[in-house]
Amino acid sequence: MEDKKQSYFGEVGSALKTLATGMKVTMKEYFTPKSTEQYPENRKTTLHVAKRHRGRLVFKRDEEGNYKCTSCTMCEKACPNGTIKIASEMVTNLETGRKKKQLLDYQYDLGDCMFCELCVNACNFDAIEFTNDFENAVFDRSKLVLHLDKEVYKGGSLPEVIDGGADWKVGTFNTKKK
Ligand code: SF4
Ligand code: SF4
Repeated sequence: MEDKKQSYFGEVGSALKTLATGMKVTMKEYFTPKSTEQYPENRKTTLHVAKRHRGRLVFKRDEEGNYKCTSCTMCEKACPNGTIKIASEMVTNLETGRKKKQLLDYQYDLGDCMFCELCVNACNFDAIEFTNDFENAVFDRSKLVLHLDKEVYKGGSLPEVIDGGADWKVGTFNTKKK
């Protein structure tokens, strides 16, 4: 009987000790600075997306809107899973008589892309780059097949995020509503 009493109070003590250990962790985490993004509530206010985040591939263009792609197909060859498909034709310059490749279509299937960036690294003409534009969800997969030469990319649905968006500070909840 005596042994049972000791064992009962021992177990109560052990339970209290366990509870205290759990509460210690809880209280520590409660006061630890947070870096939670309250997405999508903050998508137009305090959202931060690192500039280096790979959201989707885009063509680089100059101020007149011209692209630099020469249809060399190095990116297409570097892509491990056939995400890029390039169509081109040879055209002859009537003045010089020289032949040159001309881009007809630059197809990029965002739904297949692994965001490995091998295509960007393979390009010798600085013609493509990744943007951090991450809001690309659609209901129809066929809408993820993009033709980069035919679009003039201006920053997607959140153009302000392209440069990283809001400053990111550890210890703040980005709860400001849109
Ligand atoms: S994006 Fe670059 S690597 Fe790809 S076809 Fe154009 S110039 Fe060549
Ligand atoms: S990021 Fe990788 S998977 Fe996507 S298009 Fe470029 S090479 Fe292909």
